[in-house]
Amino acid sequence: MPHVLTTIAEAKEVLREVGKTDTIALVPTMGALHDGHLSLVDIAKRNATKTVVSVFVNPMQFAPGEDFERYPRTFDDDLAKLDAAGVDYVFAPAVSDMYPEGVKQTRVVGGYAAGLLEAAHRLAHFDGVLTVVTKLFNIVRPNVAVFGEKDAQQLFLVRRLVRDLNLDINVIGAPIIREDDGLALSSRNRYLSTEERAAALSLVRALSAAASNGDRGIREMISGAQGALMDEKLVKMDYVSIVDPETFALVNEAYRGKALVLVAARVGTTRLIDNMSAYVGEYR
Ligand code: AMP
Repeated sequence: MPHVLTTIAEAKEVLREVGKTDTIALVPTMGALHDGHLSLVDIAKRNATKTVVSVFVNPMQFAPGEDFERYPRTFDDDLAKLDAAGVDYVFAPAVSDMYPEGVKQTRVVGGYAAGLLEAAHRLAHFDGVLTVVTKLFNIVRPNVAVFGEKDAQQLFLVRRLVRDLNLDINVIGAPIIREDDGLALSSRNRYLSTEERAAALSLVRALSAAASNGDRGIREMISGAQGALMDEKLVKMDYVSIVDPETFALVNEAYRGKALVLVAARVGTTRLIDNMSAYVGEYR
């Protein structure tokens, strides 16, 4: 069984000792673990001698009216999965320990890319993410931290956090794990009814449509993706956007080169995001 650390004080005490003789890889999660999370654990294990998985549903990154209260909490099941995966430490603090005076505390605010895409639909989301990630980094003091490409904007912003604030942490991005039919694994997929699960496949169809239109320009890529989403009655699009993966700046029609297509949509009441790499232009 992993050693479960339930307070910040205990985590600091234990992990400071560990850090004297081992390298530490951290995988931050909100629990409700699936094979996507476990693929991050795999990468963590290959890049350090001890692995820490944090399980914390972070209230600061949920906007009012989002699913903080109903977010799935399946700790016993998560622990069994982390045990089978050979994780050394699980850090599962209480909200009152992480935010003793509530979430109106000092915040870490991202640069311009923290105001785009997801941020337009989730008020102050990335302040919450970057704040909790900074707290976790300071508590765990990892050498390596693994984040999924599934949350591409988050991964970009965490890389910037580490670079901009001169943190000595190697951030590793992990590829998106998908179901056989293409649906990206997500803790929120468990909210979906059978009909909604089928409709949710339109997200990956949208991304594929955009990526396959790369030689026809940005406008065609976006309209192909939007078409795939609009074909589904149960799906309401938040955005389809194409960014330069190096800067996360939205690209214009003149852009040529590697691009990242991002989509967010509500399927029934469940909000899903996904993304896919693409190439814009004639030559590959
Ligand atoms: P979450 O528990 O949703 O906050 O996710 C924890 C970490 O797992 C984040 O770095 C996510 O990007 C990553 N993750 C979630 N779903 C997937 C997936 N399908 N494939 C790869 N990584 C994922």
